[in-house]
Amino acid sequence: MLDISGASAILVSVMTNYYDDNFGCWDGMDDPDTMDFYNQVQNESVEKTCSICGCTVLLRPHYDKCDSCCTKLENGWDAY
Ligand SMILES: [Zn+2]
Repeated sequence: MLDISGASAILVSVMTNYYDDNFGCWDGMDDPDTMDFYNQVQNESVEKTCSICGCTVLLRPHYDKCDSCCTKLENGWDAY
C-alpha cells in the first residue's frame, strides 16, 4: 500500500478504490469488519492463472477465476 503519513494519507484513503481479483470493487470500506475481511482476503490470495482468460491474478486458494470473468459469467457470457 501507499506509504504516506498525515493528512494526505487520509485523503488518499478516502479516494482509494479498493479492488481485487476475487471480488472486484469493494464497498463499505469505512466499516472495520469489511476492512478486516479485505485484509484477510489479500493475505490469503496467491498468484494464480485465471482458468478462463489466462491472466495472472491474485486469488484466494479455492478460487480459479478472476473477478472480471465472473462478472461476465454473471451477465450471461458463455466462456466455454
Ligand atoms: Zn479471468
